[in-house]
Amino acid sequence: MSAANPTLVDDLVVANHILYAEGVVDGFGHISARHPGRSDRFLLARSMAPALVTAGDVMEFDLDGNAAAGDARRPYLERFIHGAIYKARADVHAVVHSHSPSVIPFGVTGGSLRPIYHMSGFLGVGAPIFEIRSAGGMTDMLIRDNALGDALARTLGRGAVALMRGHGSVAVGASIKQVVYRAIYTEMNARLQMEASRLGTIEFLAPEEARLSAAMNDTVLERPWELWKRKVEAHK
Ligand SMILES: [Zn+2]
Repeated sequence: MSAANPTLVDDLVVANHILYAEGVVDGFGHISARHPGRSDRFLLARSMAPALVTAGDVMEFDLDGNAAAGDARRPYLERFIHGAIYKARADVHAVVHSHSPSVIPFGVTGGSLRPIYHMSGFLGVGAPIFEIRSAGGMTDMLIRDNALGDALARTLGRGAVALMRGHGSVAVGASIKQVVYRAIYTEMNARLQMEASRLGTIEFLAPEEARLSAAMNDTVLERPWELWKRKVEAHK
């Protein structure tokens, strides 16, 4: 990988481990970061379990999902998710794709995933659901090419999270720390929303409450990051 900021690569590696430790990814799922020096490139590990990623596994791609010249390692099949979103959203510098379990029921029932508490204010008025059948007919559900990636990016729109029916979800952020936070609290919100729905009608955050709490939490992203990082480093 050429001339990428080593701190960013280190953070990307740690982010892979955190997402595993916090139950967002398992053997599958991935996180990328936009190249800090070249906005038309992004960094993503080769096809492997996120918990095992090291700096040497990080590859560089253009926004169409082509690996840097000469890098013949096997890439993730669904790398098109990342490139398509970076193309559509100049404000996005990190993307997480996962199959985190508590989110799946919301994608298949059309039940809107909405912010149940202040930690997930970034969900705004609710996460849109990507219907791959509308974009690609009958598929194996995977984002295998740029056309499907672009369709997913359109569903995401200006939002922070989109659900993918029968598959998983995608979270985006302005930084690695923000997207890790969002991916973890998307999973948490899904779990809590499911529990609350058994008790009765949910009073969700109003759009303005969601906006204000999301802005507040963006000022303290460092705090949970240091904790999550300590936890994965202690288990090395
Ligand atoms: Zn997937």
